Amino acid sequence: MYILDDKHLEKAQEIVLSARKKRSCKVCYDRGYIGINQQNMVVICHKCVDAEKATEEWRKYVLANEDLKEHYDEFFEEEDGDSPEEEK
Ligand SMILES: [Zn+2]
Repeated sequence: MYILDDKHLEKAQEIVLSARKKRSCKVCYDRGYIGINQQNMVVICHKCVDAEKATEEWRKYVLANEDLKEHYDEFFEEEDGDSPEEEK
């Protein structure tokens, strides 16, 4: 199992924060995420974070980092259809 590097985790936290829709949230205490999973990935708060926006930002980040890209191939292949701009 791939464990995300801490430096990337920090970026993921920035991304979810930037994708938050409202200011005050009791679910995540305004962090934008409710926890860290076994892969060292943030578990985003669906109550206040725009999941689509966060995913899109994360996708861009992964695509810009070769070391991440290979580990997230499956993650991106799951959602086909909606984003034709990244077709192979
Ligand atoms: Zn929240």
